[in-house]
This record gives sequence, structure tokens and C-alpha cells, in this order.
Amino acid sequence: MSNQDWLRRSFDAVWHPCTQMKRHERLPIVPIARGEGAWLIDFDGNRYLDGVSSWWVNLFGHGHPRIRQAIRDQLDQLEHVMLAGFTHRPVVELSERLAKLSGLGHAFYGSDGASATEIALKMSFHYWKNSGQPGKTRFISLENSYHGETVGALAVTDVPLFSSTYADLLKPGLRAPSPDARLAAPGESAADAALRAARSLENLLAKHCDQIAAVIVEPLVQGAAGMAMHDPVYLTELRRLCDQYQVHLIADEIAVGFGRAGSFFAYQQAGITPDFLCLSKGITGGFLPLSCVLTRDAVYQAFYHDDVARGFLHSHSYTGNALACAAALAVLDIFEDEDVLAANRVKAEEWTRKMQPLIARGDVRHFRHRGMIWAFDVETERSDFALAYFSAMLKRGCLLRPIGKTVYFMPPYTLNNEEMDGLVRASLEALDEVQSSGQSGQGEETPLP
Ligand SMILES: *Cc1c(COP(=O)(O)O)cnc(C)c1O
Repeated sequence: MSNQDWLRRSFDAVWHPCTQMKRHERLPIVPIARGEGAWLIDFDGNRYLDGVSSWWVNLFGHGHPRIRQAIRDQLDQLEHVMLAGFTHRPVVELSERLAKLSGLGHAFYGSDGASATEIALKMSFHYWKNSGQPGKTRFISLENSYHGETVGALAVTDVPLFSSTYADLLKPGLRAPSPDARLAAPGESAADAALRAARSLENLLAKHCDQIAAVIVEPLVQGAAGMAMHDPVYLTELRRLCDQYQVHLIADEIAVGFGRAGSFFAYQQAGITPDFLCLSKGITGGFLPLSCVLTRDAVYQAFYHDDVARGFLHSHSYTGNALACAAALAVLDIFEDEDVLAANRVKAEEWTRKMQPLIARGDVRHFRHRGMIWAFDVETERSDFALAYFSAMLKRGCLLRPIGKTVYFMPPYTLNNEEMDGLVRASLEALDEVQSSGQSGQGEETPLP
């Protein structure tokens, strides 16, 4: 079977996510036969460097032997058992280790990021009910936030393209200004911009705190907004304000956790601890769907009671799946045994140097970098930039999906220097190509992640 066969059959049988399917009449779907390290390989043998870690999930490359082996070993013991009333080795060990890493306890599991958001929102709301403050029912999220696309998560997501169609289904929340460093006024530092955003948040809290259960944020990097980065001082201020006004701080580290932002958890760079921590994406190294919410002991204790209804009666069938937990344990082993955070720091410095020719371009604005994420905005007349750039990169054997006019690199940590050279070279060529040819007339602006 060739690419063409799979492409046709997929187009006819699969409803692809985050996609206007009609676009695939012209833009071919890419059928992938196998993965090998940072590379995806199609049925015709073409190779693509996975510059976005397959939607930010893949930490150590495709088919990493250690994660593969951990899943195989677990498969010989137990693939899955319901977690209500039952438990097993991988879920216990994973929960213990995540607690040790985060300083938060009692891990509650879901299967994807959006369900982690749902869990954190419901837990916070229910905590206040259990604590005699049933009026705290609303949430504050940031402008340009993204927390997933189920109905509860979409209500705290500020991407109109995803949410406005469903507005009548969504419980309206409150929005605070984004601390995005790009919004710094002339003469203002990134920290100034963050502090200004924190002051606006404070006004909101001062006015509404009796109704607010929690503030939910993506620490340090708002991913789907186009890798908008902010100064850690915002999180320090946020922690202080949440304490002062008695609201929870939910850290959605679904994208930035597991070393992606440079520290194991992004919030650690601000020297704070959130009340809830949402994890997914990198948790299994991109092998299996798993998500997790960790919280403070005080929150857990507010549910611990003789009354059944005070318990957190939420469940997913695959909660704490044994294979997924085994993969996650292998990921944690790799972090420990290979001192991944330290190795990444060295790589990141080298890779940033390699990007100098991009940074130096006249049409590149707001080059930014945190941990293993790099992004820049492209000044272009083309409203079809994202699609044109994606195609130009694919032609060069690279998978990059710009968000609107923002190009970002979020590669597997295991990329080597030659592979990064190739990615940067292809990016430069693709920019030249896209900027020198005219609008194709195919595409309106598509700020899709
Ligand atoms: C991807 C993402 C989600 C949603 O996770 P899914 O697994 O896609 O449901 C939530 N929050 C952030 C910050 C994300 O990047």
C-alpha cells in the first residue's frame, strides 16, 4: 500500500481533528508508516523530522527502546484494571514519584489533557462547596489561554476559532490580560509587562473573589496562543494574589511540564507551588494517552468524609491505565538516569546559537525561547502563511505547523545537532520561498496549532 492508498482511505473513513476536512481535497494528508527517533517515515519511504514532537507529546523520539520495553514488560503482567476499588504497581509508583517531584499529592488520573482540566475545575469548585463557600463557582483564565476543548475546558479557553461556535454551551468565565512579553510597551521589560497584567488580575480578584473558585494558567508559555511567553514574576504575583484573595491556582502544565519549559515543572522557575497541577502530553513520552491532576493535601482532606457525596465522584473508564503508567515510569527513569534537564540546557544553548541566522532576518519578530521551545513571528503579507510554510517545510522533510504567523520549534529532546542544523536550514529556505512567492489564493488565515 502506497501513501496514495492510505491517504484516500483516511480521507474517506477518518474525521481528522482540528481540521476543515474539505481542505484535504487540496492539502494531502500525510500517512505515516513508522517512527524512528525524531523521524516520521511515510509509506513511500519519505522521512520527516518531527519538529513539533507530534503535537508536543513526544519527548525522547519515536519508538524509544526503554519506553517500548517498559510497555512490553507491563503487557506481560496486566494491561488494565478498573481503578475504582482496585490498584496496581505502576499507578502506585507513578503517583508516589509525581508527588515527590511536584510537592503535591493524591494523583487523580484521566486519559487526555482536556479531562485533566475538567477534573481540576470540578475539584476546585467542589472543594469550595465542601468548605462552606458554595458561591465560589466561577473561573478566571487568561486572554489567549488554551486548556482543551471539552465543554468545561473550552469555557476557560480563549481561542475564538475553537470556542465561539459553542458559546451557548459554555459557562462564561472571567478573562484576565495575558502577561505575554510581546505586549510590553516601549521601554517596558518583560517583567514590567507581567506585573502590569498581574495588577489587572488583582483588580478582577478584588471585585469578584467571592465568586471565584480558581485562576487557571499555562505557566510561562501559552502554547496554543502561539508560544506566548511571560516572565516568571507573573506566577510569583499570581501565587501571592491567589493566597490573598482565597482562590485556587490551577497550573495547566499539560504542554510545559516534563522539562519542556526548562525545569521539570514550569512553575518551579517562579519558586511557587500551585494548588492543582494538570499533566498530560509528555507524561508517557508520547506513547499512550494519560493525564493526571495533583493537588494539595488540604484539598484532598476536604473530600475525605463519611458522606459519599462529599467525595470526588468523577471517573473515566481508563483511569490509571497500567500500560500508560508503566510508560510514564520509564519516562521518569530516563529523566533521572540521563540527567535530561542538564543535558537539555546544554543543547538549548547550542541550538539557540544555530538559530542566529533566523533571528537576524528582517522579517522575523519577537524571537523567543524557553527551555525546549523556540518561537518567532513572521512579518508577512500572506494570510495563508501557516499553510504555505507547513507545505514548504514538508517538501523539505520537516514537520513544522506554524500557528498563524508564529513559527515554533518544539522538537524531541533527543534531536542531535545535525538534525537541528537541518531544521534551521529548511526553515530559512522555506521562509525565502514563502515570502518570495505570492498568496496561493487557497487559504484564509488558519491560526490552528
Ligand atoms: C494540549 C493541551 C490541552 C489539552 O490536552 P488534550 O490532550 O489535547 O485534550 C490542555 N492544555 C494545554 C496547555 C495544552 O497544551
